[in-house]
Amino acid sequence: MDSRFRPVIAIDGPAGAGKSTIAGRLAERLGFLNIETGAMYRALSLKAIESGTAVDDGPALAELARRSRIELIPTPEGNRVLLDGADVSARIRQPDITDSASRVSVHPEVREWMVAQQRELGAQGGVIMEGRDIGTVVFPDAELKVFLDASPNVRTERRLAQHQQKTGRPAERDTVAAELHERDRRDRTRVNSPLVAAEDAMIIDSTGLSVDEVVERILALIRRPSAAAEKP
Ligand code: C5P
Repeated sequence: MDSRFRPVIAIDGPAGAGKSTIAGRLAERLGFLNIETGAMYRALSLKAIESGTAVDDGPALAELARRSRIELIPTPEGNRVLLDGADVSARIRQPDITDSASRVSVHPEVREWMVAQQRELGAQGGVIMEGRDIGTVVFPDAELKVFLDASPNVRTERRLAQHQQKTGRPAERDTVAAELHERDRRDRTRVNSPLVAAEDAMIIDSTGLSVDEVVERILALIRRPSAAAEKP
């Protein structure tokens, strides 16, 4: 590939579809930055909890965001996240934050601030940016848009495996499935920037695919960008 080719690659999709894993692997292969935009909503929701700001108060949350410094440091293992200089990478992956992030993210004032930050982060190109609204709102002109999906069962299994790996303990299957379902419902039905595939996104269902297979499919699309225009 031409080393001057510095596209924005947008990866959107529901929780557990494998976006972060795939974005990290692609970034490594291409020498691009991987930006996990969900981590920004998580960091803000942590700050809301710590400062006693209600998750249903959009204007207060937006004001809180404007007074915050949220930094993403891309690494092959995922983004390290600094909130006002403190490393909150592990804390923001805990279940209370997962739940409140999807409540904080419904507010248009919050999204406006987030989108402006994310556009700056991707302005130089050479990024794999993953989230829920990257191809639809943040970078509607992204050179390649992928909507990564997987069956609810597989997404639950992946979350269970992650939990086991992180904590050394199994999680309760029904609880994980219910949380995933509820978060998806919230993300897909919110009025502002709901989770939806961009019209020109390539939809990849990773249900029966390995990480390597998904990565290779996307690399093939990047090498042959015209393929992105071919609908299945
Ligand atoms: O991707 P992750 O699970 O870390 O995202 C946490 C939450 O942040 C999502 O459930 C969603 O509500 C919100 N989010 C969003 N837009 C993005 C990324 C994440 O609304 N671009």
